[in-house]
Amino acid sequence: MYKLGVDLGGTKIEAVLLDANFNVVERKRIPTPQNDYQKILASISSLVVEISKHVSDYSLGICTPGAISKQTGLIKNSNTQCLIGKSLKEDLENKLGKKVSMENDANCFAMAESILGAAVNFDLVFGVILGTGVGGGIVINKKLYPGRTNIGGEWGHHTLHRNGHPCYCGKTGCVETYISGPSLENHWTQLTGKSQSLPDILTSIDNDNGKQWKDEFIENFGYGLANVIDILDPDVIVLGGGLSNIDFLYTDGKESVYSKVFSDLVDTPILKNKLGDSAGVFGACMLE
Ligand SMILES: [Zn+2]
Repeated sequence: MYKLGVDLGGTKIEAVLLDANFNVVERKRIPTPQNDYQKILASISSLVVEISKHVSDYSLGICTPGAISKQTGLIKNSNTQCLIGKSLKEDLENKLGKKVSMENDANCFAMAESILGAAVNFDLVFGVILGTGVGGGIVINKKLYPGRTNIGGEWGHHTLHRNGHPCYCGKTGCVETYISGPSLENHWTQLTGKSQSLPDILTSIDNDNGKQWKDEFIENFGYGLANVIDILDPDVIVLGGGLSNIDFLYTDGKESVYSKVFSDLVDTPILKNKLGDSAGVFGACMLE
């Protein structure tokens, strides 16, 4: 049986068709219609129809920005705002006359890296997205573990500093408000008065303010993931998202995590992803 996956992003919609051995049969991307839910729905449907036209039987998975409420089936917390409150899964199922599986980008990332990427040799995988937001997904023996209410792995909204930064989720001091890309850029501006993008910041951290910025980043990264290890004790942690390209997370960052775990033995591998931007669309293929 073939597997068709769609990655719905803020700027592009990508689809891939895999055969039973995970070979790519077809792959296509189109721009995401802006601020128009009906057009997004129509675009996904026509992409699916086009890419599947030569095969009769296939599974269909969709990777979405934002979480899907277990209670209502509606999308929440999406940065593609016209999706919020919409029943994308049900609407697509009605349009295509076919079962659709749908998960957020962190869960799709964790599935893709577990089956095709950096974590193929590990049983319990914690996949981390570090980018505009901070998310996570848990995969056990190549199966997604979404949890009782679909929030399994959402370490980005663990409280790191109880009286800390306000978060859009309504709480204060969430991990995401310290180590997401935008929050790291804000903190840099507070320390230096300069407004710079993360790649520029990383080339100029060899000064006093830079040292403080990096130390605090590593400290927060360490506490955030040490808390995850204390509870889940995964066989591996795989980092994805734009910040996964920061080399010191795999050296100083890893040491910081290890120093905060409640155990005399900590050797959890913290690995860089292998699939890069393709994790979403491949992960969507892996959904059941
Ligand atoms: Zn939060």
